[in-house]
Amino acid sequence: MNILVINAGSSSLKYQLLNPETQQVLAKGLCERIGIDGKFTYKPEGKEAVKEADVSMPTHNEAIKAVLDALVDPKNGVIGSMKEIDAVGHRVVHGGEKFAKSVLITDEVMAAIEECNPLAPLHNPANIIGIRACQDLMPGTPMVAVFDTAFHQTMPPAAYMYALPYEYYEKDKVRRYGFHGTSHKYVTQRAAAMLGKPIEELKLISCHLGNGSSIAAVDGGKSVDTSMGFTPLAGLPMGTRCGDIDAGILQYLMNKYGMDIDKMLNVLNKKSGVEGLSCVSSDFRDLEAAAGKGDRKAALAQEKFAYEVRKYVGAYAAAMGGVDAVIFTAGVGENDKTIRSMVCKGLDFMGLKLDDAANDVRGKETVISAADSKVKVLLIPTNEELMIAIDTAALAK
Ligand code: ADP
Repeated sequence: MNILVINAGSSSLKYQLLNPETQQVLAKGLCERIGIDGKFTYKPEGKEAVKEADVSMPTHNEAIKAVLDALVDPKNGVIGSMKEIDAVGHRVVHGGEKFAKSVLITDEVMAAIEECNPLAPLHNPANIIGIRACQDLMPGTPMVAVFDTAFHQTMPPAAYMYALPYEYYEKDKVRRYGFHGTSHKYVTQRAAAMLGKPIEELKLISCHLGNGSSIAAVDGGKSVDTSMGFTPLAGLPMGTRCGDIDAGILQYLMNKYGMDIDKMLNVLNKKSGVEGLSCVSSDFRDLEAAAGKGDRKAALAQEKFAYEVRKYVGAYAAAMGGVDAVIFTAGVGENDKTIRSMVCKGLDFMGLKLDDAANDVRGKETVISAADSKVKVLLIPTNEELMIAIDTAALAK
């Protein structure tokens, strides 16, 4: 079964054609600058990547048409015809409280996704444009929506409610939703497989540490808490996002510098996090290099980040009444042994001991805890496309 996975943004579109049964990726790539000057990248398995600039892509329709043309191209294509695409899986950022699982897309589902637009005004409308473009070009092919928020819909009210007047929840849907659900779901399922235990019997803490970062407490396969909130600005400090801060700071800085709320949020989303703190970069490789040369702010940014991750690990162990394994995934989690080591420092008291030699690894499914560590530490590369393809295949069958 071949599944086309689409992740549509406002001016970009990532795609991958893969077979979820064999996990073979037939082709993948990216359309960028849609509506501007169209850049197209296509990488068929086992062949050179094709890169084209100035491709006419006034809308997402032309971008998806370019993807489909490339997939069936006589020279670089990977399938004979579009009929070999059995279904399309769409990443959708926000499913609100309506979607606790992936769903087959119908007119009712589209209307319900649209109703979630105010909750993710930058992302959901773009996801919807991507779905509509595929529906136009591939009528009759089943389409599935896979939501970033769905996995966290199992959180109990004590975890998802904010201590605000109740009416803001009832009337305005203000609550913690959480994001990165597809990744947390994938790596916790892999963790169960690696540990050789049913997921129902495991308490797992999944640390998705990338440019955007979130942590999830997953008890018996169900998300019971997560660090991102109503928006992806909450929780850990990230590349450029501040994570949790005192809301009173907003009023103080806005008054002091005459900033309106949009300017303030721009600072919190784009100029904060490890970049803001280090004055160096949002990229952890740059922080490591600068800290190595004695840059104290870069070292502080690393320490702050690791400290917050460590605090969440402790908090979520308490929330679940124990933990069997801590998982590291995404760009930083998979690649940065320094951060992993800093996070795990001092957690021996709860039976978590990293094996320094085993931790000297990148991007590969491995146990990196010491043999006598009661709490296992796992490195698991995430694969959101595969998870989307698995859900899509199951629903399209
Ligand atoms: P996104 O949230 O954009 O999906 P990723 O999960 O791809 O982000 O993570 C990207 C980040 O991973 C980079 O900004 C960088 O900080 C970090 N990263 C990537 N490779 C390495 C590496 N070799 N060492 C340390 N950090 C890395």
